[in-house]
Amino acid sequence: MKVIKNSQIFEVPNKNARDADAKKIISTISDIKFNENQDLFGKKYLCICSGGTTSSCSKKDLVTLDLRKNYNNIKFNQENGIVSIGGGVLMGNLLDELEKYGRLFPTGLSNLPGVGFILTGGISPLSRRYGLAIDNIQYVKGYLGNGKYFSISKNKIKKEEIDIWEAIKGAAPFFSIITEIGLKTFKSFPILVCEGFVNENELMKLINIAESFPPNLSLQWMFADKIYVYVVGELKTADDKIITQDLLASLNKFKSLETKIFSNFNKVRFFPRALNLFELSQTNHSEVISLLGGNIGNNSHKLIQTIQGINKVRPNNSCYIAAQQLGCKTELEQGHDSYFVHRDSIWKPWLYTSWKKDDLFERELAINWLIESWNKLKWFFPNIHLAQLHNHLNIHNEEIDLAFARKLNKLKLLKNIYDPEGNLPPL
Ligand SMILES: Cc1cc2nc3c(=O)[nH]c(=O)nc-3n(C[C@H](O)[C@H](O)[C@H](O)COP(=O)(O)OP(=O)(O)OC[C@H]3O[C@@H](n4cnc5c(N)ncnc54)[C@H](O)[C@@H]3O)c2cc1C
Repeated sequence: MKVIKNSQIFEVPNKNARDADAKKIISTISDIKFNENQDLFGKKYLCICSGGTTSSCSKKDLVTLDLRKNYNNIKFNQENGIVSIGGGVLMGNLLDELEKYGRLFPTGLSNLPGVGFILTGGISPLSRRYGLAIDNIQYVKGYLGNGKYFSISKNKIKKEEIDIWEAIKGAAPFFSIITEIGLKTFKSFPILVCEGFVNENELMKLINIAESFPPNLSLQWMFADKIYVYVVGELKTADDKIITQDLLASLNKFKSLETKIFSNFNKVRFFPRALNLFELSQTNHSEVISLLGGNIGNNSHKLIQTIQGINKVRPNNSCYIAAQQLGCKTELEQGHDSYFVHRDSIWKPWLYTSWKKDDLFERELAINWLIESWNKLKWFFPNIHLAQLHNHLNIHNEEIDLAFARKLNKLKLLKNIYDPEGNLPPL
C-alpha cells in the first residue's frame, strides 16, 4: 500500500481536512482488508473522500479512502438518459459532461461537492421541480462496511435489498462505500436568475412571495454583513414563461435586483464575491450545520430579528447564515422510502462558522456561536439535514436524532448488520 503524508499532496477544498495529517491516504477499495482491518485502521474507522468539501473526509490518525482518482468516470447513456458516475465524481464535472448532451442533473449551489452531495439528500435550486438528488438515483454499486459487494437497481429491486436501497438514499455514509451511481438526467432549459442585494424588509417580502412559488421557481438567500438573494427559475414550459413575467413585474420594486438569463443551469454561479464569504480562505478552518423547517409564513419578521441577533454576536466576519428553498417535488417520496425523513421541509438554512486555523480560542468561540445560533433558530427550523458529519463535535448525537428521527433505530440496526466492526463513520 502506498503511504502518502497528508500535508504533502492531499489537496481538498475543505481546509480542516487538508491540514488534518491523516494516517494514510489510499485510493482503491482493494487496499482495504475489511475483516483484518485492525492493522490498517487500529480501532478507528475509515474516512471517505469524494468532493473533499467537508471536515470529515480526512482526519488526524485515520485512514482516508480518496475516491477522486480511481472512481471518477462519467458515462452518459443517450438511449435511456441515465448517467453513470463513479463515487469520486465532482458535481461540476458531472454538469460539464451533461451539458455536452443538453442535459442536466439537479446539483446544488456549488460545483465543488462530490458524491457526498447526492448521498446526503442533495438539495438543488431546481429540486422543487426535479426532486432531491436521492430521488433520481436509478442504481448503486459499492461495498458494505463488512466488505460485501452490492449492486442494486431501482427497477429490479429484490425484497431483501429494499432496506439497503432506502437507507442509501440519505444515510449511505454510515454503512457503505459507493463506487458507482446511475442517475436520471433531465433535458436542459434556459435558467432565469434574479439576484442582488436586498434589505431586511425586502427579504421578508421575498420570503413571503417565494412561499407561493410554483415548482419552477426557488429562492435562496445569504445573510452576512449584507443580504444577497437569488431567485432561480427554469424556463421550460409556456406557463413557466408567463409565471416568470408576472414574477418579474412584482419584483420591479426591488431596485437592486438584476435579471439574467443563462442558456442552462451549468452556466449559473452562486456565492457572489461581493459578499466576501471566505469559503476558500486558505488560513481559516470551518464547520457547517444544516437545518430544515417548514413555511415561515407570518413569522418572517420574527425570523429576521432572530438572524439580526445572531449576526450581532458573530465571532468574526467569516460567519454567516444562508438558506435554500425546497418544497413541491421534494415533499413526496419517489417510489421506495428514503432516509431524508423531513419531507415536509420548505427551507434549508445553513450556518457557516469559521476561525483562524490553530487558534483554539477562536475555534471555541466560533463553535459556540454555531451552537447558540442553531438553538435560536430551532423554533423556525426544528430538524436537521445531515449534509456534514460531525462525530468530532458534541452536537453529533442531537444532529443524528433530529436528522433521522423515526428512522434512527432502523438505521442503527442496519449499521449493526452491515458494518458490525464500525469500519465506517460512527452513528
Ligand atoms: C460550497 C458548498 C455548497 C454546497 N451547496 C449545497 C447545496 O446546494 N445543496 C446541498 O444539499 N448541499 C450543499 N452542500 C453540502 C454538500 O453537498 C455536503 O456537505 C456533501 O456531503 C459534500 O460532499 P463531498 O463529496 O463534497 O464531501 P466529502 O467531504 O468528500 O464527503 C463527505 C462525507 O460523505 C461521505 N461520502 C462521500 N462520498 C461517498 C461515497 N462515494 N461513498 C460513501 N460515503 C461517501 C463520507 O462519509 C464523507 O466523509 C454544499 C457544500 C459546499 C462546500
